[in-house]
Amino acid sequence: MQAASVTFELIIAETREFQMASHSMNVHTIPSGLIQTNAYLLTDSVRKEAVLVDAPGEIWPKIKPILESEDLTLSQLWITHGHWDHTQGGAEVVRETGAQVLAHVADQVLIETPEVMEGFMGEKLGLEGFAVNQWVAGGDTLTCFGATVEVRHVPGHCPGNVMFVFADDVMALVGDAIFAGSIGRTDLPGGSFDELAASIRTQIYTLADETKLYPGHGPVTTVGIEKQSNPHVPA
Ligand SMILES: [Zn+2]
Ligand SMILES: [Zn+2]
Repeated sequence: MQAASVTFELIIAETREFQMASHSMNVHTIPSGLIQTNAYLLTDSVRKEAVLVDAPGEIWPKIKPILESEDLTLSQLWITHGHWDHTQGGAEVVRETGAQVLAHVADQVLIETPEVMEGFMGEKLGLEGFAVNQWVAGGDTLTCFGATVEVRHVPGHCPGNVMFVFADDVMALVGDAIFAGSIGRTDLPGGSFDELAASIRTQIYTLADETKLYPGHGPVTTVGIEKQSNPHVPA
């Protein structure tokens, strides 16, 4: 749900855009919702398609102008994990676009019946569930704008946390498994520090050092930087 360090809540909201070298994909970083969760809107202006990775609260009004200005169809919504701050805006996105939803089955209950999280959130947010169309698992391969995307399962912060590895673009969208200089909290239901540390060492630190990591909160980092300096999970 949240980063281990509260400093992530202080990150200034900002939309950033990067042009990937190998094909026509752009990555828009869009912090949104109550704790400024990063949504990543992947766009391809040649194919006129977009994929949204995570759907924090109020994300639809933020991505709608981008889709309209570039005449893009949002075809898929990929959920890194089922915590409310990554799914609160999902029902609206699906209603507005008909996007197909992908997620890991271990978080089915969180995504489809999010009110179960209100018990550990301490307040009622009126969360709305939505249906998942395709369950993904570690080792699966997806295609995004012609690029191959590897799914890796990284439990420990949340049982269904998956990451999406774009090998050609030397980048991965990691959810809340790891942050720049920090890791996901492990005190929520289904969390385990030992499991998270194992996920990070076997699934993230095994990627090339120059791989850019796009986390669910805070700035981009790289595998090499975290292997060298992450204080919570040394390489
Ligand atoms: Zn989380
Ligand atoms: Zn989060």
